Amino acid sequence: MSKTVCFITRNFGKYDPDSLKGYESIGGFRALRKALTMEGCDIADVLAANGVQGRGGAAYDMGKKWRQAREVPGAHKCVVCNADEGEPGTFKDRELLTHDPFQLLEGMIIAGWAVGADNGYIYLREEYSHLRPRLLSAIAQCEAAGYLGEDILGSGLNYRIHLYSGAGAYVCGEGSALAESIGGHAGRPRMKPPFIKQCGVFHLPTCVNNVESLSLVAPLLLDDEGYYKSQGTPDCPGTKMISVCGNVKRPGVFEVPFGITIREIVYDLADGMENEDYPLRLVQLGGASGRICSPAQLDTPYTYKGMRQADLTAIGSGAVLVVDERTSVIGFLRMTQEFFSHESCGQCTPCREGNRHISLLLDKVAEGTHTAQDIATLKKFADIMSSASLCGLGETAQSALLSCMKRFPEVFAVKEEVAVR
Ligand code: SF4
Repeated sequence: MSKTVCFITRNFGKYDPDSLKGYESIGGFRALRKALTMEGCDIADVLAANGVQGRGGAAYDMGKKWRQAREVPGAHKCVVCNADEGEPGTFKDRELLTHDPFQLLEGMIIAGWAVGADNGYIYLREEYSHLRPRLLSAIAQCEAAGYLGEDILGSGLNYRIHLYSGAGAYVCGEGSALAESIGGHAGRPRMKPPFIKQCGVFHLPTCVNNVESLSLVAPLLLDDEGYYKSQGTPDCPGTKMISVCGNVKRPGVFEVPFGITIREIVYDLADGMENEDYPLRLVQLGGASGRICSPAQLDTPYTYKGMRQADLTAIGSGAVLVVDERTSVIGFLRMTQEFFSHESCGQCTPCREGNRHISLLLDKVAEGTHTAQDIATLKKFADIMSSASLCGLGETAQSALLSCMKRFPEVFAVKEEVAVR
């Protein structure tokens, strides 16, 4: 199996990303022309037939999502491109926005046609504001060329794309918080139902996909030879963008076939540990809300099923954060917890108070003054947060903690003299 591939990244370096003409010269917008001859449900079927799972944390079946979005009644609908790539350690969407903005726009227009939307919104994370001029120029060039606006390419499709910037809140990666933010309100998650697909941006039916998911659409529609499906494994075909960072020699963004092992990602693609005096302690997969992989689990195949079977996060954002022995398990968990305490929007009690109390208990574990009761309380808080929080942030904030308790039980062991106190 080749360790890296070029499917979604096939255009990188092949055209000037500020030039629509450059994109057209390498076959850009052929997929849109093809899509406009197809029914929306047939486009959704192409995604489903290729087994595409959305590249966001939920990994929802993308063909099913588009079919559902198409079937929701509504005279006006929206497509949202979630470019709020806020998971710590994740930066692969930034590469797609930087090197191939037109492929993303083409995917968004196809999405508009497939689900019956008349407006698309790119929600760009504040930290990527340097990419605004490139995206605004790409949108303007598409409008001038007739790929956006009224009666696109004579198809009868009326569709525009708008660019919105976030303000740096991690929680706005959550669909309903993002919809609130685009609508001009504080970016706080909503109670559900109704779901975004029924009541999203401006309370209109909304189909949300992230940058990687939408950038995959144009190459898939043109993939008559079945290259995408030939990659990966039989139960997890295709390719995935990952970003590798932390204590490795060669951090970066890679497109890999599903089925590569975590060991190959760390030691072959990223060239191993940056300082060989300090071996690998742990790998966090899928961002701050991801579970922890111990050194004993490095041969786990990077597939949705393989990760689930190994009790790891189901791929998530594609982040692979490598930590060596200079960082202690507790030190790592305290940083993670601090992040969630800071990013919690404070709207619901389990998340607002749970994160804060878990941080306090981790301080006791770090000092070695914790009791068996403290460990039981940690687990209890984690369980309450995962079952009673209003959104995914609170539901998954303790994933790293719970997996570390399983993988490194010695770190949480209670000292005898404390236990009898
Ligand atoms: Fe806000 Fe946390 Fe509740 Fe989500 S779980 S709504 S981030 S307080």
